[in-house]
Amino acid sequence: MSTPSFLPFALPDIGEEEIAEVVDALRSGWVTTGPKTRQFEADFAAFIGGGVEAIAVNSATAGLHLALEAVGVGPGDEVIVPSYTFTATAEVVLYLGANPVFVDVDAATLNISPDAVRAAITPRTRAIVPVHFAGLACEMDEILEVARTHGLKVVEDAAHALPATYKGQKVGTLASDVTVFSFYANKTMTTGEGGMVVSRHADLIARCKVMRLHGISRDAFDRYVSKTPAWFYEVVAPGFKYNMPDTAAAMGIHQLRRLEGFARRREEMATRYDRELAGLPLHLPARPAQAGDRHAWHLYPVRLLPESGIGRDDFIVRMAEAGIGCSVHFIPLHRHPVWRDAYGLTPAQFPVADAAFAAEVTLPLYTRMTDEDQTRVIATVRTLLSA
Ligand SMILES: *Cc1c(COP(=O)(O)O)cnc(C)c1O
Repeated sequence: MSTPSFLPFALPDIGEEEIAEVVDALRSGWVTTGPKTRQFEADFAAFIGGGVEAIAVNSATAGLHLALEAVGVGPGDEVIVPSYTFTATAEVVLYLGANPVFVDVDAATLNISPDAVRAAITPRTRAIVPVHFAGLACEMDEILEVARTHGLKVVEDAAHALPATYKGQKVGTLASDVTVFSFYANKTMTTGEGGMVVSRHADLIARCKVMRLHGISRDAFDRYVSKTPAWFYEVVAPGFKYNMPDTAAAMGIHQLRRLEGFARRREEMATRYDRELAGLPLHLPARPAQAGDRHAWHLYPVRLLPESGIGRDDFIVRMAEAGIGCSVHFIPLHRHPVWRDAYGLTPAQFPVADAAFAAEVTLPLYTRMTDEDQTRVIATVRTLLSA
């Protein structure tokens, strides 16, 4: 009997259309931000709907930095973030000379807890960055209400949440200030590296556009196609270098067209995991509170219950021995030396996030997995948990 090959934790799903479009960009002579980025931005804004504008950037991290700068976060300000996230959510706050204030998450969803947000507000608080963990939208009505009451900005870290909905509305069209999506290699669609900043506020979009490219008032393509002299530009602010190249946007154009199919396949796989892992000593991921709402299923995070009789680390080793790649989301930020030491954070301050981390395993879920691959994952999990 042959040993099945190793099933990686994640793989991008790149088709021939993406490849042909990238080749077209390479042959065109225009490889930096240009016509393909313009098209990708227009297509993305149309996909999200609700009258938003979209600007493409070279990562979601860059997008979060631009968004927080645009809403006015500056030195000495405080920005409330969950501890249960990727470090990018907090690092961008520090880039601006502001301080992240870490709060705990809700035990059922592992999304930022609105009560913890309320308790963390001080006169210095400027903004809240909710993270839609795994692709399940946060309790946005409560968060937006807290923000309104206290005059705070809301920038959504929607790196996991394409396409997710909250109370029937797409994430990206809610009443927050800015929403940022990621097209990193393992996200629900990819441009290799990339992200999208989405907002209904023309002033915020204008600021992000300028700061995305050195604080220059016109980008290279605009200068190339415009009637005023191509050599002329003005630098109006000390900006960044965060624009998306057309080689990446070329992938994005086709990934976006396939997104609905990707999302359906992810939903189908999550539903199968839910069904066939039910009854095991596992805490399965939360689903949207409102029927009909969409979970983006970027991740399928399970938590081992104490009666499983196996520790999380051992479980991952045993899965790897069976040829299956798993991961952990997340090592909470209060456990990383950079945040722990700078802010004197302890696990006791984040009991929910810390307990979740100790028990969490992310199972593989991506569109290039076959039904047989998933059968293997389920069978291996069942074997490990019934031993
Ligand atoms: C992936 C991720 C990011 C960063 O995305 P990049 O596009 O890689 O910069 C930010 N926040 C969360 C929660 C993520 O998972």
